[in-house]
This record gives sequence, C-alpha cells and structure tokens, in this order.
Amino acid sequence: MSIQKQVLHLIRQHHEISQAEIRTITGHSASSISSAVKRAQNLGLIQEAGVTQEALGRPRTLLTLNPSFSYTIGVQLNAYQNEMVLTDLQGKVIHSRGLHSSELQPQQIADDIATFIADVAEQPVVGVGLAVSGIIDHEQGICLDSTTTGWHNVPIASIVSARTGIPTYVENDANALALAELLFGEGRNLQSFIVLTLGKGIGAGIVIDRALYRGRNGIAGEVGHVRVATSSDYTCHCGKSDCLEAVASARAITRMLSDRIGQPVSTDTLGATLSQYPQQAAEVLTLAGDRLGGALAFLATVFDPDAVFIAPEPHLGLSNMQGAVTHGFHSDLLPVSRNPTTLKFLEEATDMWARGAASIAIERFFETVTSELVSA
Ligand SMILES: [Zn+2]
Repeated sequence: MSIQKQVLHLIRQHHEISQAEIRTITGHSASSISSAVKRAQNLGLIQEAGVTQEALGRPRTLLTLNPSFSYTIGVQLNAYQNEMVLTDLQGKVIHSRGLHSSELQPQQIADDIATFIADVAEQPVVGVGLAVSGIIDHEQGICLDSTTTGWHNVPIASIVSARTGIPTYVENDANALALAELLFGEGRNLQSFIVLTLGKGIGAGIVIDRALYRGRNGIAGEVGHVRVATSSDYTCHCGKSDCLEAVASARAITRMLSDRIGQPVSTDTLGATLSQYPQQAAEVLTLAGDRLGGALAFLATVFDPDAVFIAPEPHLGLSNMQGAVTHGFHSDLLPVSRNPTTLKFLEEATDMWARGAASIAIERFFETVTSELVSA
C-alpha cells in the first residue's frame, strides 16, 4: 500500500489523528508522511481538526477528513425496501428517499436517481453505488442473476451512469453491508469479520484483513444455497433441496409458519403474524435460528474471524431469533480456549444497507483520488 493510501486510510479510520501517530503506526519517515498530508490538504480533501496536548512533548495538530469535499449516492435494491441516500465521504446520510419504482425497472431506477441528485445534491456527486441481492459482476457492473429483482445479465451500472453522467458501481448487497460495517460500523476496529444477511435470501459479506473478499467468481459468501439439512420438507426456490435458504430464510420461515397456523402468510405480513401466533412463531424461529447459528459457526470455523454478525432485514420482524441463533452458534462452534469469535446481532442497522451501497462509491472515490494524488 502506498504511503498516500495509508495516510488517507488512517485519517478515515481514526477520524482524528496526528502525523506523529501516523508515523508510529506506519513506520514511514516524517517527511514522506508530511508530503502525503500536504498533497491531500492542498486538494481540500483533509483539514486540521484542532490540537492535542500530551503531558510531555509538543502539541500535535490533528488531521481529519473534509467529509463534504464531495458526496456519493447509495441505492439499496432488495425488492422490499428500495431506498436511495446521499452521503458525505464519511458515509453520513444527508438525504434519503424511497424509490418510486415498485417493479425495479432499470431505466426507471436510473431516472429516480437522476431526479434525486438534481433535487438534493448541493456538492458534486462523485459516484453512485448500487447494492443488489444476487450474483454480481462488480468489475463489469452487471447484475448476472438476482431472484429478488428478477434481473438476469442487466448492465445496471452503465444504465445508471448513462442517465446521470456519474460513475456507477454495483455490488452484492451483503458485500455492501459488510463494507459499511468495515468503514463506519461494528467492524471499524476489527481485522476480519463476516456479516450474514437474512432476508428473503441468505448471503454473507466476508472481510479479511480489512478488505472485502469476493473470491474468484465474485460469489464468495453465497451461503444461501449450501446444503445444510438432510431431510427438509421443502425444496429451495433454486431447485435443490436442503439449502440453508430452504430452512432458515424469511421465505422459509414464512412457509413453515403458514403450515403451522394453516393459513397463508406473506413476507410482508410475517412480522405481524409472528406476534399474533407466539407459540408457532417460537417453534419456527427456533428451528431457523438454530440452522443460522450453525451456519455462522461453520463460517467462524473456516475463517476464524474476530466476529460474525447477523443482520436481519429490519422490516421482517425477525429480531426474536437472537436466542436460537446464539444457541445454534455456540453448540456448533469449535471450542477454543481463548479469544473465540464473537457473535452479534445487527438489528437496528436500517440505514446501514443504503450506506453500504454508498460506501462502494466512497471506496472507489478514494482509490481514484489516491492514484491522482500520487501521480500529480
Ligand atoms: Zn437453494
């Protein structure tokens, strides 16, 4: 990693940091750090944030990011709650708006984004990030396959950038959420972690050594169609039986609840129905939660991360699974004597999904600006 990149990374990660602290962490010389800082300062990307006085030694000037240097747009597309946000470079949401398009037509989404930018952006928007559930080619900006949006081979990034004139990136929604947690959330001070997302489908975003791990085909973390059951009553929507999604997704929970109460339930009414039938709700949430806990324990064993998180989509009413997930996790986790992987529920991460989409654009902005600064 170049010195320029490290300096910007540390300022973003710590919010406020002195050049002396950057020197201690990186081991680079004072002069090379100072010129990297100067370049970013001249651009207006970083600024001074006051002075800290240690008991001994000279006062130190703290550096911080100028978050309103430019803005980004994040768009969350998972067919339930489709939302756009305008954020600063720290991922702080300045404005948000629901998408009009209920049918998720790519051109309509592009129009909605363009209108949103025209209405609310007072600073230049440097990038648009789209978080879509499904299989994504993030390099080409194509949604290869998404059951929730119904898209197959949709070049969504170029459709949006053609309409807005702004560079646009697309990422799997679990990856985007993991990126938001890495930059602004629970993962800020962790080295490696995994976020398991629970909605109609199940996915995972994997962060290793503070970078998103996508794998060879961009499908790393697609754990929803890994076989976990041996004799499930249900066939997964992918056609296989015994997938994790067939026994533990919101779709599966809806189906199991419907069978138990003898009437149809939809994912829209799932939360209300779960409260209405507490006995049956407890049964199905225990079953599904135990399987999810097992999946988390499996991931924790394979990757040995600092933490695993589970993020139920907020509108589904699935927060009551915490006990069952925790139980399943601890019964399946390989016992280690010290520093075991921790498990945490990310229940109220409502705006983190859209901030995750924005963080894709934020990361790309910093990559571009860093190489421009270095070559300037
Ligand atoms: Zn499946």
